[in-house]
Amino acid sequence: MSQLDDLYQEIILDHTKRPRNFGPMEDADRKAEGFNALCGDRVTVYLRLDGDHIREVKFQGSGCAISTASASLLTESVKGKTVAEAEALFERFHKLVTGKSDPDEDPDSYGKLAVFSGVSEYPARVKCASLCWHTLHSALEGTAEPVTTE
Ligand code: ZN
Repeated sequence: MSQLDDLYQEIILDHTKRPRNFGPMEDADRKAEGFNALCGDRVTVYLRLDGDHIREVKFQGSGCAISTASASLLTESVKGKTVAEAEALFERFHKLVTGKSDPDEDPDSYGKLAVFSGVSEYPARVKCASLCWHTLHSALEGTAEPVTTE
């Protein structure tokens, strides 16, 4: 494994062991649930909006290391962003984990989310990494239907 892979593993492990913004949100404006039947990952994403900005974001759930780390990094990545910025990041993240990102794109522009670039090599893991993002998307849209990755 390369040093970069080691660093990525370390970040994923860190977020799995100590997920950020983990727990319920009593006064959430938006909430959505997601379920990945393939792996058994469950996630609930809570949002508090302030106009067009995501003021607070938290998540709860149980799942594999990738799904937990992804949700934890999601909360760090979208907090303080506008709804449009969060949706744009979701699009980019999805391209990253499905191996469709622009090869000319600067990997640094993904910040810590770049740790999931290797996921594109493991199709079953793509759903684990993207579940929380689909769930965020649903929460932003205000959809009541639970999200499944099917
Ligand atoms: Zn999983």
